[in-house]
Amino acid sequence: MSNPNSSSLSIQNQLLKWLLVPVVSLCILSTTIAYKLAERYADQSFDAFLLNSADSIAARLGRNENGVVVADLPPAAQAIIRHNGSDKFYYQIVDSAGRRLTGDAVLPPPRLMTFRGAKFRDFLLDGQRVRICRIPTQIPPSADEIWIQVAETLNSRQRLHRQIFLSIVVPQLALVVLASLSVWFGIKRGLIPLTKLSGILASRNQLDLSPVVLELTPPELAPVINSLNVVFLTANKHIQLQRQFIANAAHQLRTPVTALKTYVDYAERINTDSSVGAVLEHIDEATSRTVHLIQRLLVLARTEGNRKGPEPVDMMAAVNSAAAVLVHEALQKRIEMNFETPDFPVYVAGNQSDLEELVSNLLENAIKYTPEAGSIWVKVELSDALVLTIEDTGQGIPDSEKERIFERFYRGSSSNGNGCGLGLAIVSEIVATLEAALELSDRPGGGAVFRVKFPNVLKQATVANSPVNKSVAIGPDHNPQA
Ligand code: ADP
Repeated sequence: MSNPNSSSLSIQNQLLKWLLVPVVSLCILSTTIAYKLAERYADQSFDAFLLNSADSIAARLGRNENGVVVADLPPAAQAIIRHNGSDKFYYQIVDSAGRRLTGDAVLPPPRLMTFRGAKFRDFLLDGQRVRICRIPTQIPPSADEIWIQVAETLNSRQRLHRQIFLSIVVPQLALVVLASLSVWFGIKRGLIPLTKLSGILASRNQLDLSPVVLELTPPELAPVINSLNVVFLTANKHIQLQRQFIANAAHQLRTPVTALKTYVDYAERINTDSSVGAVLEHIDEATSRTVHLIQRLLVLARTEGNRKGPEPVDMMAAVNSAAAVLVHEALQKRIEMNFETPDFPVYVAGNQSDLEELVSNLLENAIKYTPEAGSIWVKVELSDALVLTIEDTGQGIPDSEKERIFERFYRGSSSNGNGCGLGLAIVSEIVATLEAALELSDRPGGGAVFRVKFPNVLKQATVANSPVNKSVAIGPDHNPQA
């Protein structure tokens, strides 16, 4: 089950967060500082031009013969004073009492006339922002203070601000995108060994407890892999010991129980007392069940321990040998057995005795849980994989038991006296060993369908490579032809 917080715990997300958030924040901060500084320097140079214009006007002020202040500003001089063509320019000459002597009436009177240096301020003129510069001057012979105000709209400044903004922000944005991409790729690459490790573990057979080997293990991952391998090794040892114990116990039990069975058979034969005969029959039944259980335990222990490399195994041989052993039982119950199989060998990667055990357990159950005069179908189909299907007309398996019947010693509601609940546990163990897939479904009209899909088909004989399967029916109304 995946952790609900897994995405917030993901190493990749953590690294991205801790690397990208500071990088992006630093970029935003540096862009803001760079922009503010550049804007200030640009404003200072525009202010210097404005002051220059005020000084030029001061130089062209004089008094007429009546002592009245006049500005000698012919159009040519005005063109020089306006240092650019895209902004509106205003000027105004004001006496020390704040009265306008000449120039544009729209400008507001100067402020802070006690301060004698050049002073700049922003002002909203007819809904448009303007920058005003005022300087004091004197026009001899009078020592009275005269104030010169010049103002201009901010079009050129704002255009320059925009250019500065773009020239700083665009490269910074490109830098952020490139940095993010390289951080993302770096993290992805750095995490490749971890992804490989999880891929190796995920693709493993559930029974595979061999040590994990990762080529080019990074030093950060080595302790994890070492600890993992120690856990695998310890678990493997315990499992082997347990298997060995079961195998030994079953083996030890087999001899005395077989002897017991022989004695019971003998006692039944020589006994003449009917009351003793009934008891002996019960003992015989219990002994048979014990023999069956011991056999199953031995098979389970052998199957679990069977980790030899796979070899080509003929599915048809496994089906034929299982059917040959069980057909007698089916005939006794008047069950019709139908075989739809290719009439050429089909090989899967595995182990001969495992495959025979698998087919025989499924077939044995089908016969056991199908009532008298029922039918069983055994199909082997070859497409992209090899599929073995065993279908019966028994009472089927209730949904509530469909998972549990594969557990060891679990016996379903349809189980009858002879059985120990290990047959399907052995089947699922073999299925896992062969890397096959097992499916259980209901047969329409009643009954169970067990389907095993073997992906590792090794080869098939080309001699009779016919797409039509051979059909054989064995039953009370048919002659066995297999
Ligand atoms: P056993 O047959 O010894 O009880 P298995 O492990 O072979 O143990 O089967 C477990 C249970 O699954 C059985 O007890 C039975 O209830 C159910 N089962 C298995 N095969 C079939 C089948 N073909 N039809 C109906 N029930 C089945």
